[in-house]
Amino acid sequence: MSEPMLGAAIELLDLQKRYGDVTALANVSLDMPAGEFVTLLGPSGSGKTTTLNAIAGFLQPDSGRILVDGSPIEAVPPHKRNIGMVFQSYALFPHMTVQANVAYPLKRRKMPKHELQRRVAESLELVGLDGMQQRYPRELSGGQQQRVALARALVFRPRVLLMDEPLGALDRRLRASLQLEFKRIHRELGITFVYVTHDQDEALVMSDRIAVFNNGSIEQVGTASELYERPTTLFVAEFLGDSNVLPGVIADGPAGRRLLGQGYELALPEAAALATGSRGVMTVRPERVTVVPDTPTAPRRCGNTLAGRVKQVIYMGGIRRLEIDVAGFTMLAQEQAGTGAAVAAGDPVLAVWDADRSVVLPDEQGEATAGAVTGSLEEV
Ligand code: ADP
Ligand code: MG
Repeated sequence: MSEPMLGAAIELLDLQKRYGDVTALANVSLDMPAGEFVTLLGPSGSGKTTTLNAIAGFLQPDSGRILVDGSPIEAVPPHKRNIGMVFQSYALFPHMTVQANVAYPLKRRKMPKHELQRRVAESLELVGLDGMQQRYPRELSGGQQQRVALARALVFRPRVLLMDEPLGALDRRLRASLQLEFKRIHRELGITFVYVTHDQDEALVMSDRIAVFNNGSIEQVGTASELYERPTTLFVAEFLGDSNVLPGVIADGPAGRRLLGQGYELALPEAAALATGSRGVMTVRPERVTVVPDTPTAPRRCGNTLAGRVKQVIYMGGIRRLEIDVAGFTMLAQEQAGTGAAVAAGDPVLAVWDADRSVVLPDEQGEATAGAVTGSLEEV
């Protein structure tokens, strides 16, 4: 676009919202610096849409504050907040052409015609819909309709763009290509993007930072790699990516501190901060687990080692996944195809990992059960 659009910083301070007995937002606080691509990630019902609607001004929180560039906006009506929004359902006007749909926010703002024409053309070019001006929504694919909705949300040059599961209705391939488009558009405009999804892969691909929602609160905020490598709660470890989950009790022993579980005793990572005697859960990413044949002549391995039997070997693109049956639960290991030991279903193996490549988290309710957790949540 010809003139730069700059993003606004958004600050959410202790937002709360209840509907009768349902707590939609228990306590949401989040700092979003100007120009960042922030994703609100969490399961269905965790408060993502409620948070977005509060920022847009479509609902008033019961308490808490929303600051845009440091100024409270509770009293500012939605159309004066200078915030664009894109919904999963596109929400286009079916009886209007692409041109008229995109021009609509400018018409409402009573913009002179030549300026309006120029802005609409700019916006359509930005989303790759040049030449589609005279079509009607029914003459466009789902992906194209969502591009129209995006052009319409950007045409008045908002300082913040909110998107609520905008790719939810599209197939996987189309989602992947639009994710990259959204990133490109974010880079080109430099405005603040707040993106809602329940799809962890989508969040990992696109975001500068991710806020993980659970039960109306944010569990952790961080970059994709921070959340993946250093989750601070079991929920985050299980929600983002796959994890092997090994619960137990922290104990002191002659060889140092250990996690004692049902049928295993594991060395703790250096950084484990849990007190002796407390319940903890070790989480290990599948790609941190090495699998070697368990033969009498096999060299001794250092690191945490569990003996088991291969349940299944699965090839997925360039990677090999192994499911290992370990004393009543399943562990997942993942490696580059062609790099690991030759093993087949039924073989006795050792699953080995370096304690420092694992994370130990509190398990206050003692709820965790041993086994592999795959984090992808496809909503139906
Ligand atoms: P998400 O977008 O993460 O799926 P929502 O923010 O839509 O979650 O909803 C959070 C919780 O608040 C859910 O339990 C939902 O059922 C409830 N909720 C949201 N909006 C309303 C409403 N208008 N009336 C009653 N309950 C609502
Ligand atoms: Mg929602």
